[in-house]
Amino acid sequence: MNDRITCRCQKCGKETQVFGSRWCADCYYPGIDQDWQRFEDLVEEGYPRHQARIMAGLADPPDEE
Ligand SMILES: [Zn+2]
Repeated sequence: MNDRITCRCQKCGKETQVFGSRWCADCYYPGIDQDWQRFEDLVEEGYPRHQARIMAGLADPPDEE
């Protein structure tokens, strides 16, 4: 039985090092909570997740050459 509570990064799915954190150290930056909220709002509005991610600043836009 494993009663250890693990928190997984909402962005990349890795286990977070900080208890209760929604983000791993690699993904975290100041303001990510606001960006993530925006991302969820955009998805709710019907945008595809990958596009919402870019619009919210959570992912780099694809190269446009
Ligand atoms: Zn992460």
